[in-house]
Amino acid sequence: MADSYDAILIGAGHNALACGLHLAAKGWCVGIFESAPEPGGAVKTGEYTLPGFFHDWGAMNLSLFAGSAFFKAYSAELIAKGLEFQPVTHPFASAFPDGTWCGVSTDLDATTARIAAHSAKDAETWGQLLADFPGQAETVFGLLGNPMQFRALAYFMLKTLRRRRMGGTLDLGRFLTLSPRQWLHETFESPQVRAMLGAWGMHLDFAPDVAGGGLFPYLEGMAGQAFGMVIGKGGADTIIRAMVAAIRARGGVVECNAPVRRILHREGRAQGVELADGRKVMASKAVIAGVAPKALVRMTGGMAPVFDKAMTDFVHAPGTMMIHLAMKGLPDWTAGAQVQRFAYVHLAPSLDQMARTYQQAQAGLLPDEPVLVVGQPTAADPTRAPTGSHVLWLQVRMVPGVIKGDAGGTITATGWTDAAGPFADRALDILDRYAPGTRAKILGKRILSPLDLEAENANLVGGDQLCGSHHLSQHFLFRPARGHSDGSTPIRGLHLTGAAVWPGAGTGAGSGFLLARRLAGT
Ligand SMILES: Cc1cc2nc3c(=O)[nH]c(=O)nc-3n(C[C@H](O)[C@H](O)[C@H](O)COP(=O)(O)OP(=O)(O)OC[C@H]3O[C@@H](n4cnc5c(N)ncnc54)[C@H](O)[C@@H]3O)c2cc1C
Repeated sequence: MADSYDAILIGAGHNALACGLHLAAKGWCVGIFESAPEPGGAVKTGEYTLPGFFHDWGAMNLSLFAGSAFFKAYSAELIAKGLEFQPVTHPFASAFPDGTWCGVSTDLDATTARIAAHSAKDAETWGQLLADFPGQAETVFGLLGNPMQFRALAYFMLKTLRRRRMGGTLDLGRFLTLSPRQWLHETFESPQVRAMLGAWGMHLDFAPDVAGGGLFPYLEGMAGQAFGMVIGKGGADTIIRAMVAAIRARGGVVECNAPVRRILHREGRAQGVELADGRKVMASKAVIAGVAPKALVRMTGGMAPVFDKAMTDFVHAPGTMMIHLAMKGLPDWTAGAQVQRFAYVHLAPSLDQMARTYQQAQAGLLPDEPVLVVGQPTAADPTRAPTGSHVLWLQVRMVPGVIKGDAGGTITATGWTDAAGPFADRALDILDRYAPGTRAKILGKRILSPLDLEAENANLVGGDQLCGSHHLSQHFLFRPARGHSDGSTPIRGLHLTGAAVWPGAGTGAGSGFLLARRLAGT
């Protein structure tokens, strides 16, 4: 390992890796230092229950990565390094307590028939939305991939005005402020269809009544219909292994078990980092921190009062619990065997229930009926488990990082060490209600409380899987703070990247690639 680089990156999350790869491709000498024993942050895969059962620790859905500008630029190189996707044609469904269900598959006729079983009018609306999607997608994805800087934004606005005229532009502006409930009520009449799409807001912190969240049920619904979903062949870590190999092939260094303790700076300029083992490593051009905003203040010792306050005030979303299961078989859904084909099954029966769950978690209560995202990756990718067996990926949304009580009134523990078991039982009881006998099929189980998530990845503060709320006050121009959505900080040569920076959470490598292009000038 060298003791000096052009750029040092702190943390080997996928954003930092994307940033590092682009800089390395532009001739920079990069060194990436990661606390954990392996790279990837929220994107990693392992045998967390039993040998031969491969679980995605965090992210499972790689559609954002597969559709990203970064992947477009580096697909050939990454595929040559072993990256392999598994396309999914049945991306998501919802099962309901009365034994009905609804789901989106890339076969439009199949989706339409399922929606029509709930509402003929909604089925017609679905077709219309899909027909309009290419035109809408160009603008919306254009915005989400755009740097949030005045000049770039002004250019984007001008283009939008030219294409949509004033009325269309204002309609778009209004759409971007809608809550999921507003958009779903304006668009669909069936409570089931609304719930099926509204569940996507809960992947972020857009509960049904949060302004700005309507976009996500729309985008996920349409993208699921138009493109399906993409998961990693063998596991989500396929993208990480390929990026690390590509960086190393270009002379870069990725060192694990190497926590960075301090960011070194002098006279307003970043100089390098100090590792926890005392080593000092210098950077001639940039120090790029893929850390949570509060950690940046701690690691620098403070940068400038206004910026430090913004980083300290940065708000985290409620947490997540993950339950990984090795299974004898997939759940036998009351709603029918067809549900077994879907990558995600949402157990989120109504908008009201989702709103209540979110409010309980926000108030520090363990929700009485958390939302479950039941991932069935082996439905599409059987290589992740021994023949005939399966893995389940259970995302339990949303939970408080700090427990003040139990909305269900039965769990007395107020620390996650003791509450994790009974709360996981609550989640598994819910699953068993929709698919009786699921518990009896469990061969192995691993529970990750929000604090376990944070312990393995310091960026997931309180188990917040987004590394920061996505509410409007902390999104777009304001992520992580006004004037810094490009990752710049008051210290020259010090940059922030990762989910806390625009365009935020997810596997789209957005902030890392935008920063790398800005630094490399291309
Ligand atoms: C449970 C879960 C499920 C998710 N599911 C999905 C999904 O299905 N699809 C999707 O698109 N997104 C999903 N997400 C969100 C997505 O995975 C994340 O937003 C994204 O991976 C964050 O990437 P990042 O580059 O910001 O860094 P992270 O992945 O957060 O990695 C940051 C890295 O920095 C390291 N680090 C931190 N501090 C230091 C330090 N001082 N020194 C050295 N290293 C340090 C950490 O150890 C970590 O490895 C999920 C997230 C979680 C947690």
